[in-house]
Amino acid sequence: MQKKEKYSFQSETKQLLHLMIHSLYSNKEIFIRELISNASDAIDKMKFKCLSDTSNKFKNHDMRIRIQIDKKKNTIIISDNGIGMTKDDVIQNLGTIANSGTKKFLQSLSSQDIKNNQLIGQFGVGFYSSFIVANKVTVKTRYAEENNPKNSILWESEGKGEYSIQTTYKEENGTEVEIHLKNDEKQFLEEWKINEIIKKYSDHISIAIEIQEYDEKNKILSWKQINTAKSIWTIPSTQISDDEYKKFYQYLTKDINEPLSWIHNKVEGTQEYTNLLYIPKKSQWNIWDQENKKNGLKLYVKKIYIMDDVNQFLPNYLRFIKGIIDTNNLPLNISREILQESYVTKVLKKALTKKILKLIQKISIQEKEKYKIFWKEFGNILKEGIAEDLKNQSIIAGLLRFSSMKSNSQEQKLSLKDYIKNMHTKQNKIYFVIAENYNSAKNSPYLEIFKKHEIDVLLLSNHIDEWMMNYLTEFENKKFQSINKIDDEFEKIFDEKINQKIKQEVKDLLDDIKNILKNKIHKVNISHRLFESPVVLVSDKNTMSKQMSKLFEAAGQKTPPVKYTLEINPKHKIIKKIMNMKQKNQNIDLWINILFEQSLLAYQGTLENPNEFIKNINKILIQK
Ligand code: ADP
Ligand code: MG
Repeated sequence: MQKKEKYSFQSETKQLLHLMIHSLYSNKEIFIRELISNASDAIDKMKFKCLSDTSNKFKNHDMRIRIQIDKKKNTIIISDNGIGMTKDDVIQNLGTIANSGTKKFLQSLSSQDIKNNQLIGQFGVGFYSSFIVANKVTVKTRYAEENNPKNSILWESEGKGEYSIQTTYKEENGTEVEIHLKNDEKQFLEEWKINEIIKKYSDHISIAIEIQEYDEKNKILSWKQINTAKSIWTIPSTQISDDEYKKFYQYLTKDINEPLSWIHNKVEGTQEYTNLLYIPKKSQWNIWDQENKKNGLKLYVKKIYIMDDVNQFLPNYLRFIKGIIDTNNLPLNISREILQESYVTKVLKKALTKKILKLIQKISIQEKEKYKIFWKEFGNILKEGIAEDLKNQSIIAGLLRFSSMKSNSQEQKLSLKDYIKNMHTKQNKIYFVIAENYNSAKNSPYLEIFKKHEIDVLLLSNHIDEWMMNYLTEFENKKFQSINKIDDEFEKIFDEKINQKIKQEVKDLLDDIKNILKNKIHKVNISHRLFESPVVLVSDKNTMSKQMSKLFEAAGQKTPPVKYTLEINPKHKIIKKIMNMKQKNQNIDLWINILFEQSLLAYQGTLENPNEFIKNINKILIQK
């Protein structure tokens, strides 16, 4: 390949480059962080190759990242002697965007967003950020296994839609990225500026970063190391300042926020490992993306970088945790598949899960304000653990926070422990109601009797709650009870004596209702739980949740019919009116149907046929 070959960027890449070039991105300096991070990854891969290669072909020489500034040519060169790239690698890596999440994200972004948020680096679009400051980028690279220096690759682009590739000569393996700065970006030609940026973003890279210095007088070129280059997790925690931990977090995750908390342990014994794990303050943009199976852990074996995004060491419901695991018990050439099966992985996963849960627990007890931030950001993810991790269920349940009838606030701050502490002397169960949203939970007719007796009820309205409550049946020996299901205990304890006279009066009405509604209901009763509403629907103890029955239906299975009991409130004006109508021998069918449908609406939040309901209401409205 002597001649230049021209290629067109993949359309998503074009779109991204367009955004990079045209957005007045306020945080331009991050291109240095991105290129250094790529160089560092390349060196990690090279180190790994040296160690795992038994043929001794690759010598473990000094590996470093170097920066050269050329004020005359207006260029910065960032080079590494890492793994390098083949021609195919170059086309794949510098011409396309591989990550499907990034593509999706891009589609929803405008240049205004890019300018305003600082997320560029998090999306695996790092290399292209060089076009924020460059009008041309040249990449020279030689793959470590390429024996002929003449077969190195030269990639070049102005970021406009095309790039070219040709062969070139390159002395050593690795990659050299040359940034041709736009005229108004000359600030990046100042050594102090580069120093400052490296200190800010890349000080904790465990690889030396050197800058070229020129001694004018003696006309000597030399290299000076500008970062500290220590692997922070290998140092005893007593020697690391909070500030260093925070900086390392930001370097590791590219998050602009500081972490919420972290744990750093060195464990010795049968299992030898170090973990430095962080809880972020903000969840990542794609944390709810089902396709995104990545999580933020990096695996090292004996201080050698092995791989990113290992999700084997923590359960899915802790996927927001970021950090590093360095173990001595795994082989260097471990693959993801073997990792999945490994005994060491299982032991570590168990231990790390416990550690993280303990840390969260500690925050919840000792740092209430911090815990608020945590719960708001990650509470709904943690709830998945109730179903996913039955062994730790009671610990996770202790971390849950709820809105409740008495707290009268949408903010979820009540713990189950506090709920139990404040229980009524006769109360033995934890009562809850699930609704579509907070307001409908708060105004649920089922709460009326609880209000009267001053018994608190948990108000659940997050999308995951119904599913979670299928798994959460008990906490500290107290059973959970949904208040729209029949509960014998409740009826017994708070027995509201129903006046015999009233019973007699409505007896006929109950029969009528049963006749009118037929199979729609199982039973009809006088209610003692209602004070403001005319009717309420309660279901049998064993009723399947809505989500469960949806799952059944999706699988083509029939769900058992729900056994509803309609309870009526004989003191309510509407019921009295209906009784009156009955006495005058007027038809009450329409009224009973409307009452039934409104009770169904309160019970499940939706109706199968809302138009029918509206029609019926309208009929009543025009009745004379
Ligand atoms: P990311 O680093 O998140 O994968 P980038 O856009 O920064 O995304 O880089 C894309 C890819 O290009 C990298 O994954 C890597 O394979 C390759 N690459 C970039 N810079 C280098 C380099 N200095 N040496 C070797 N490969 C590199
Ligand atoms: Mg990168």
